[in-house]
Amino acid sequence: MSNIEQTLSIIKPDAVERNLEGEIKEIFKNNGFEILKEKKIQIEKSEAENFYRVHETKPFYNDLCDYLSSGPIVVMVLEKKNAVKANRELMGATNPKDAENGTIRKKYGISIDKNSVHGSDSADNAKIEIDFFFKD
Ligand code: UDP
Ligand code: MG
Repeated sequence: MSNIEQTLSIIKPDAVERNLEGEIKEIFKNNGFEILKEKKIQIEKSEAENFYRVHETKPFYNDLCDYLSSGPIVVMVLEKKNAVKANRELMGATNPKDAENGTIRKKYGISIDKNSVHGSDSADNAKIEIDFFFKD
């Protein structure tokens, strides 16, 4: 089975601010991802709250939504075989301290909240997240 999938990736404000957009996109391309769609935007806090609704009850929710809406982000649709899992592996653990060598979060992440990238965690959520940013 080929299982070509699409997943949503976000280059978060901490990475855009440090001008890492180009380097991070190169990492995706060098790892076999095709960038099908991309846009640089800044979202409202209310949009961040909708995007991260699944974390609504978590203690970090408010700060997370403030953070994601604090500056420009780059949202991308990535395509590859088993893209959801492949992207999660390439990103590394949520906390950069726990991320494996060679992962994006290990290389660029500052802290558990400023961890440079987002990636969908399942094929179903990938569809929801891609629609969230790219449905016209
Ligand atoms: N986060 C945080 N504190 C925590 C856990 C998560 O600030 O204790 C932030 C972090 O930016 C993370 C996001 O909330 O990327 C979403 O959390 P999730 O558990 O879904 O991690 P991810 O799927 O991004 O690895
Ligand atoms: Mg998540």
